[in-house]
Amino acid sequence: MKALFKCQVCGYVHEGEAPPAFCPKCGAPAEKFTRLNDESAQKIYASDRTNDIEMEIISLASRISALCAEGLDIGLDPGCIDAFRKARDESWVIKQRFKAELATHMNKGKW
Ligand SMILES: [Zn+2]
Repeated sequence: MKALFKCQVCGYVHEGEAPPAFCPKCGAPAEKFTRLNDESAQKIYASDRTNDIEMEIISLASRISALCAEGLDIGLDPGCIDAFRKARDESWVIKQRFKAELATHMNKGKW
């Protein structure tokens, strides 16, 4: 596990042997970075792939919503319209559920 350094100005997390000369996000100098302890670093590493998966699911849910809108515009028959409406509503729930979960990760430093 590499060392992680967190910018105390903006929260950007740097991976490496030492903090960067300047924060890539806000431009703060290296002195504004603090090295994360092992527990905090472990949280970030353990959640890294999970966060990526959840963001991809959010993106897919947005795609489902867009496809449903296209299907509703076509409006082929009542069965299709019903299925597209339900899928659109379900995709919203999926998207919002994972957004809320990602927010809890951020609040717990798992980012
Ligand atoms: Zn920063």
